[in-house]
Parts: sequence; C-alpha cells; structure tokens
Amino acid sequence: MKTERRSAIKKILASTTVLVGFGPIAVAKNRKSEEESKYSRPKVDYFEELGVTPVINAAATMTFLSGSLMLPEVIEAISATAHDFADMYELQDKVGIKIAEMLHCEAAMVTSGAAAALVLGTAAAITGIDADKRKQLPNLPGERPEVIMQKSHRYVFDQAITTTGAKIIEVENPKEMEKAINKNTVMALFFNAAVSWYGIEDTIDHEAFVAICKKHKVPSFIDAAADVPPVENLFKYQKMGFDLVTFSGGKMIRGPQSAGLLFGKKDLIEAAKLHSSPHEAPIGRPMKVNKEEMFGMYAALKSYLERDHKKEWQDWLDRADEILLVLKTVPSVKGEINVPKGPANVVPSLHVTWNQKQVKITPKEVYEALKTGSPSIVSSLGKKNGEALLSIGVVLLRPQQVAIVANRVKAILNEASV
Ligand SMILES: *Cc1c(COP(=O)(O)O)cnc(C)c1O
Repeated sequence: MKTERRSAIKKILASTTVLVGFGPIAVAKNRKSEEESKYSRPKVDYFEELGVTPVINAAATMTFLSGSLMLPEVIEAISATAHDFADMYELQDKVGIKIAEMLHCEAAMVTSGAAAALVLGTAAAITGIDADKRKQLPNLPGERPEVIMQKSHRYVFDQAITTTGAKIIEVENPKEMEKAINKNTVMALFFNAAVSWYGIEDTIDHEAFVAICKKHKVPSFIDAAADVPPVENLFKYQKMGFDLVTFSGGKMIRGPQSAGLLFGKKDLIEAAKLHSSPHEAPIGRPMKVNKEEMFGMYAALKSYLERDHKKEWQDWLDRADEILLVLKTVPSVKGEINVPKGPANVVPSLHVTWNQKQVKITPKEVYEALKTGSPSIVSSLGKKNGEALLSIGVVLLRPQQVAIVANRVKAILNEASV
C-alpha cells in the first residue's frame, strides 16, 4: 500500500470515529424503529467491561462472528424461562413433539448445533437403542461402522461423523453407492450445499440417493445447516424421504448460536436422544443444550415460520437500495444486488465496485478500514469477472445500522477520491 493511501485511511478512521459515535448514548438517541428499541442496552456494558469490540455484521452468518443475532422474541423466551427449573427429559420430549408438528415430520430434537446433530444422528444409526453399544462408542469392538458419502461431498464437518468411530466410504455414482453397501453400513450422508461450496454438481442427486438408501434399508441423513431461506427448505428434505435432517439454529433461523435442529424418523431421534444430555455419559453428553436454549430454539423456529418472508426479503432489498443510494454520491461507484445460487446462504447482498483511478483504494483496503474502524464493521470481499469487489451484507444489520454502514463506506471512498 502506498504511504499516501495509508495516511488517507488513517485520516478516515480518525474522522469517522467522531462522525458516527457508537456509545450507548448515541444508540439510544438514534433509535428509530420498533425492532431497534427491543435491542435494549443492558445496565452493565459487558462489552466495555471486558474490552471486547462490538462488531456490526455486514457480511453473513459466520461462526467466528457469533453466528446471527437472536431475535428479541428469542431473548425473551430465554429470560422468561430462566427462573424456573424443568425436567430436561420432559422438556426435550415436549419441545421435540412441538417442533416435529411444526416441521411435518415424525420426531425432532434440539441439539447444540448442526455439527452436534451429525454426531448424534450417526451415533443413533450405529447403535439404535442398544445400551451396551451406546456405552462403547466410539470404540465398538469389531469392524468399524461405515457411512457412505459422495466423494464430492467430503467437507470439514464430516469429522463429526468419524467422531462416533465410523469411517467414511466415498462413492462417485449410484452404481458405486449400491456396491458399497454391506453389513457394516450404518448410514449415508448427503451434504446439501456441496454444490454451493465447490461448484461441482452432485454425482448422485437427492432422489437417487434416497431411493438407494430405501432399497437397502440404510438410514439417509442430509446436512442442510445453512440452507434457509427459503423457508420451504425446512420441509423439503423429509418430504423427499431423508430419514434425518439437520439445520443450524444460529444461522438465518436466528436462534441461539449453540443450538440446532435434528429431525426425521422417530426411532432414530429417540436413539439420538439417548446419546445426549441429560443421560449421564454417552458420546453426546459434552454437547449439552441447556433449558433456555431449548426454549429459545423453539421460539426462534416459531418466529421464523410465522414471519412474512416476502416482506422480509423486500426489506433486505430496500436496505441494499438505501446503501447504494448513499454510495452512488461518490463518483464512479456502482452497486449490484447479488443473490447466491444456493442452496447455502441464499440472501441478498450489495456488490460494490468503483473506478480505482478515480477512487484510489482497493476493495481489500476498504474492507480493512471498515473492520479496524469504529464502530468495527465486518464486510466481505467478492469477485466478478476476476475483479475484486466489496460485498456488503444487509440481512444481519440492525435497522439503524444500515445508515451507519452506508455512511462509513461512503466516507472511506470519498477520502480516497481524487
Ligand atoms: C454451519 C454448518 C455446520 C455446523 O453448524 P453448527 O450449527 O455451527 O454446528 C455444519 N454443516 C454445514 C454445511 C454448515 O454450514
């Protein structure tokens, strides 16, 4: 980076700190909408007390950035249920019955996230309700249980499968899949967003995958952790015939980050529950879900299903338009709404580009200036036709943060304009 550019960024940081104060007072003063007012600041500012920087998420639901923000009604469910004890067996059963009704499937449970659901579902497929086997996981005597996956579906989260002691058998087409099934096969896993992650088409599509599993009585499991919106996906895969389905609670469903959903066939869910807390020491005991998270996850799902999704989508587009309107006042700046093809992370964001001869700063430098500025704003970087661009996520912004983000980006671009 050239020295003049670096000093330009420093200047921006200094000036915008003053421009957009982010203290509790500034926030209270600017509170606009009803939703915003529900995000009340607590009496004690724990961020400040620990010296932790609050971040504005103008990117996506990323685990390292604490996932998503729980909606006010989720926080309400958590605090409203925190003052009484509950029998955790009863709570898990009853919340499961309700969620299963909501999702039109046989049974459901709240897990400590989609990764935990992968462990519990696999463990259930290995042991059923056999108590001896349950105690021995992940070291069952004899040959290792086998889980079938498409080679193009292998991903970081499949370590959750091998955590149970199972090994993964890779196949590349329907014929190979059928041939791979043997007496050690306990399950087959479909990674729904493999296409989004790697850009490689599935070599066995959903229908063929389910059909082979059914023919050979092998339980099928689909990981669709980040695959809402659209809301229809919450119903789609059990309808297709998958025996187990998981979604993260802490992504766009906006439940607790440490919660998720596992649902599908009753016998498998009942077995999965035996593998988890409050049972004393099964493989899932370290993946405990507390009482408040169970209520919170339920409240989040209820709110998600009841929401006007069309209106919400329009609101996201309006936010992108609002930001673009502000940024367009900077010469040469252009913006375009981008919606990934999916199935993961299908939400709109604003892709911003400019003529770097006129605005002498790169997208990466803007990204850095936003991140290290005050307030800290995390955006993302994208590419189109080989050109780098700045991507501004709008779906996780609190209503009042839309203008803050727009003005900060504008100030940074303006400072770098010749
Ligand atoms: C996020 C994600 C997970 C992990 O989900 P958690 O709820 O954070 O445990 C698993 N699989 C996929 C495809 C994901 O995107």
